[in-house]
Amino acid sequence: MTGDFSPEQKRYLEGFVSGLGAVRASRGLPGFGGGAAASVVAEPTGPDAASLKAMARTEAAGKKLEAAEIAKREELGLDSYARMKQAAKDGVYPKGPDVLRWRYHGLFFVGPTQDSYMVRLRIPNGVMTHWQFAGVADIAEAHGGPYAHVTTRANLQIREVPATDGIKVLEKLVALGLTCKGSGADNIRNVTGTPTAGIDPQELIDTRVYASEWHNHILNTREMYGLPRKFNVAYDGAGLIAALEDTNDIGFQAVEVKDGFGAEPGVWFRLALGGITGHKDLARDTGVVVKPEDATRVSDAIVRVFIDHGDRTDRKKARLKYVLDAFGFEKFLAEVEIKLGEKLTRVPTEAVAVRPVSDRQAHIGVHKQKQDGLNWIGVVLPVGKMTVEQMRGIAKISRDLGDGDIRLTVWQNFLISGVKDENVELVKLALEALGLGISATAVRAGLVACTGSEGCKFAASPTKRNAEEIAAHCDGRIAVDQPVNIHLTGCHHSCAQHYIGDIGLIGQRVPVSDEGDTVDGYNVCVGGGFGADGAIGREIFQNIKAEDAPFLVERMLKGWMDNRSAPDESFA
Ligand code: SF4
Repeated sequence: MTGDFSPEQKRYLEGFVSGLGAVRASRGLPGFGGGAAASVVAEPTGPDAASLKAMARTEAAGKKLEAAEIAKREELGLDSYARMKQAAKDGVYPKGPDVLRWRYHGLFFVGPTQDSYMVRLRIPNGVMTHWQFAGVADIAEAHGGPYAHVTTRANLQIREVPATDGIKVLEKLVALGLTCKGSGADNIRNVTGTPTAGIDPQELIDTRVYASEWHNHILNTREMYGLPRKFNVAYDGAGLIAALEDTNDIGFQAVEVKDGFGAEPGVWFRLALGGITGHKDLARDTGVVVKPEDATRVSDAIVRVFIDHGDRTDRKKARLKYVLDAFGFEKFLAEVEIKLGEKLTRVPTEAVAVRPVSDRQAHIGVHKQKQDGLNWIGVVLPVGKMTVEQMRGIAKISRDLGDGDIRLTVWQNFLISGVKDENVELVKLALEALGLGISATAVRAGLVACTGSEGCKFAASPTKRNAEEIAAHCDGRIAVDQPVNIHLTGCHHSCAQHYIGDIGLIGQRVPVSDEGDTVDGYNVCVGGGFGADGAIGREIFQNIKAEDAPFLVERMLKGWMDNRSAPDESFA
């Protein structure tokens, strides 16, 4: 490579040529130095061999497979794309087991609540570029309701997509470098991580690397689809904003391991397993620590044990928690070690330094990054909803005044990162012009709601609307001065994790007559928490009508504030 190029230009050209080589290799073409083309291998049509063996073992034991398992054996949703495409051409929604199969691709038929699809994306670690964000807005406008929701897995959902357009949405998202594959059904869901990864002054590790590695591993490993039930994995880098990793099947918590305990001192992930708050369990510490670079291999081995031993006869008991309950940690970890082909590293509790604590308000407002002169700005979204106009505006602000990234959080809002000190006020004004703010009352800052009956057939109540009503009512009447989390979830699936809220409401049809008439309503829990304050809330009120919920929450908050022993005593 000669000529009149500067060293910088030469480096560029070398990089360009080696990049071309990688592209040719990925397409099975010989590289510039020659070589054989890759052969084309036909995809199998059922689940992978381990799942089939587990199904056969279940039947051999005289047990009846769940209908969903039989449907998987007949055709794994991953292989339904051509039929799904034909259904779109015919303008029809899926029926029977195809409803579950389409969810492998992120298309959720939400009938009878709405005659439409909800499309759920995957956004590893919740981080998107400004152009992806604007692109999603364009897609939502062209094919759905002109809005999107930020979910409690730091993800986006587009709603009101007609039968003809589901595939168009999926294919346009792929063109944006996004995918929906495996975002629903019995698959590994969106991979969450610390939203301030790489910019957080107190983080121990940047979780984006590990979330992205696992995301790509799942997408490209057929065995990781069609599990006994859904599966969640999260990475918490010990930053200021909690990633709620203890609500996941696998929760990786960055920790500092001290010298003298048999493990190399430094930053490891502590392994917590079995979180499923809808079944009243937070992930529990296993005593195992994992080198960050081994996190994907360890997760893979854990999932493979789950594939072998997950319950395929009863979907209510098919989550990882039930394998752990049946086996106990030691037997389960021994199985993981067999899959892994090596021993896991165990350390006593005292080997791990106390973790930096999260700040329950750090997802809202202006916060200094670890990079001098830069800030992240947490923007309030009323129960996660934003219009396409707002999304385009947010993308433009991120591009022009931030570092180009938009970071979604499990608190159903987003951060604009990389804002220079001198631009903070400008960003605030630009957000204001979009009708968005960066400050919220304590009630609104910690308000989380699932989709609810306006878009989910399982819901007993319109959670998002009722959440808004609770916030509007309380904000006008009581000045809450400590963070408080209020979670509203529409049914036992617990998408908004009511059991970890200071106050948690779970949808309940409330009887109002002897003839069986019911109205929207809730059962109410108190005392939930996460992280260092992890706890499962306990139910204290039942059959509260939705119209009465704002008054009840106001009384609960007032009771706490009037009776606390010190002004800084938390609700918990
Ligand atoms: Fe639907 Fe229930 Fe999840 Fe709410 S918690 S979105 S009602 S499945």
